[in-house]
Amino acid sequence: MSRDITMCHPRLQRLAVQLIDLCGSQGLPIQIGESFRTIAEQDALYAQGRTKPGKIVTNAKGSSYSSMHQWGVAFDFYRVDGKGAYNEEENFFQKVGALGKSIGLEWGGDWKSIVDKPHFQLPDWGSTPSRLKSEYKTFNHFKKTWPDNEETFQFPENTLSSSPGKRITVAYSCGDGVRVRKDPKTNGAVLRTVNHGNLFDVTGYSGQWVKVNVAGTVGYIHEDYVAYRTGTCTGNGVRVRKTPSLKGTVLRTLNRGNLFDVLGYSGQWVKVNVAGTRGYVNKAYVS
Ligand SMILES: [Zn+2]
Repeated sequence: MSRDITMCHPRLQRLAVQLIDLCGSQGLPIQIGESFRTIAEQDALYAQGRTKPGKIVTNAKGSSYSSMHQWGVAFDFYRVDGKGAYNEEENFFQKVGALGKSIGLEWGGDWKSIVDKPHFQLPDWGSTPSRLKSEYKTFNHFKKTWPDNEETFQFPENTLSSSPGKRITVAYSCGDGVRVRKDPKTNGAVLRTVNHGNLFDVTGYSGQWVKVNVAGTVGYIHEDYVAYRTGTCTGNGVRVRKTPSLKGTVLRTLNRGNLFDVLGYSGQWVKVNVAGTRGYVNKAYVS
């Protein structure tokens, strides 16, 4: 999924969270837009301004692995202060670019051929994918070299509550206006809210509450609103059930290709959020 930062290099995930925190603290609120891109998604983007309407936004064809987004080492951001997602007024993107560079990211605003102000990437392999292509050939080969340390994303297996989840570092809100509370209870003081797609660090669990760090604010979000990755349905007429059981009430069905947020696992069942409906899907139909 193009918005699934958890598909990206672990260090990029960490830097994305760090950048959101840093920018938030400087009055430059941002969110992550595009991150990992599949061949098909890159091809669709390449067609824009060529065989499809719109203006040209990339020189990289999907099949040639020519976008850094296809290597899991790039993400784009947009502004969320209500002044327009891509409005450069007040040098917003310029300022975020400088902050990103200060924590070790390469900024697309410094490029010459297509200046790409909303774009950041890891600088380790050069500005273009030529070195990645010659050294690793495919994304999968490259991915095998990624550090398998505690920064590597893992989502909770077999546990929906009280998961130790020690290896999780990044998750995102799967709802809008979701409350971050001071204490792990429904009447805990509200410290702030988060919207769909907002990233945060997961630092612990307390019953049905997930302890998070959102741009420096440490608090608790109910587990129903914490997603660890995006999943895709691999079958047609797949049932979303209210409880993780074949006897569970059917809330709705999904078809092949339908996307949802993955909230956790319970044995053979995956807890999902589909456009606000939360339920359980058999693991066999989730990729
Ligand atoms: Zn980009």
